[in-house]
Amino acid sequence: MNVPAARNVIIIGSGPAGLTAAIYAARANLKPLLFEGFNAGGLVPGGQLMFTTDVENYPGFVEKITGPELMERFRGQAERQGAELITEDVRKVDFEARPFRVWAEREEPYLGRSVIIATGAKAKYLGLESEHALENKGVSACAICDGSFFRGQDVAVVGGGDTAMEEATYLAGLCRSVTLIHRRDEFRASKVMQARVLKNQKIKVLWSHEVTEVLDVEQDKVTGVRVKDLKTGKSRVRDVTGFFLAIGHTPMTELFQGVLDTHDNGYLKVKPGTTQTSLDGVFAAGDVQDWVYRQAVTAAGTGCMAALEAERWLAAQGGAH
Ligand code: NDP
Repeated sequence: MNVPAARNVIIIGSGPAGLTAAIYAARANLKPLLFEGFNAGGLVPGGQLMFTTDVENYPGFVEKITGPELMERFRGQAERQGAELITEDVRKVDFEARPFRVWAEREEPYLGRSVIIATGAKAKYLGLESEHALENKGVSACAICDGSFFRGQDVAVVGGGDTAMEEATYLAGLCRSVTLIHRRDEFRASKVMQARVLKNQKIKVLWSHEVTEVLDVEQDKVTGVRVKDLKTGKSRVRDVTGFFLAIGHTPMTELFQGVLDTHDNGYLKVKPGTTQTSLDGVFAAGDVQDWVYRQAVTAAGTGCMAALEAERWLAAQGGAH
């Protein structure tokens, strides 16, 4: 039988975490193999930055750069350093076998002595047609990424968890007003974060309201949101030029259910201060293990950590091939 050679490192995911891991692993001569799949919520590899417009907070770029351009640079750098990229979704893994086995499109598995998981997370959306149509035209799922485009304007945020509190507070520092829309009459967020919102004069909370439509698809930009009071059933429009979703993210961990330990919220568990998952030789970087910072630069940072840790781990196992 023709047994394929095991790679030193297989990286799953092509956002900032996966590609940074690939750059570092390639420079360490580990000849990494990276799968850039289509799973992050769209039809293109590259992670969540493929769905943002301008990125102004990635260090080193004085002039703004678009999300897709930034990812193209990450990708080019990874390839130039010698990483091999395969544009296929990983569909199955077997982490009980040694070397680890990873299946993509072809029938036989790829073999990896170590694996770095960087599959990311995707923002949850309400699922409204109008919301989808106005994405990046005033609808955003990341206040820290896009907030500054709404400086001095009136915006709305939907959600009642810590993310919604954090985003509403952040936006209140930039915008003229923030309407925080929540479907219940109490927040799920921690008391401290709630208190910050409730004492902020610029934030108005609409309790027990749901968003039924984002306006105005005809004008191809956000001009308001139609909200429904769930207690009275009455609808009205609030004029805003920005609409931010903060109803949570879903980590992309389906492949690893029952295989790796996760927190109650579904994110992969790593040993604190490292990228080591519950399985020796399997590392996790970026948003799949981080629900707090969720920035391109922090994802890149943990991608770097994962590659360095994989390199050390391989050395302890007798060296890379
Ligand atoms: P959460 O799941 O905690 O909260 C989601 C919020 O969105 C809830 O209030 C929920 O309403 C609401 N929601 C969900 N689906 C819908 C929907 N379809 N329509 C309307 N509203 C909806 O997610 P977060 O992203 O806020 O937080 C995730 C985790 O990250 C938490 O553990 C949080 O503590 C943590 N975090 C910590 C931060 C920090 O410490 N600095 C910052 C940000 C997040 P309902 O309450 O009715 O279910």
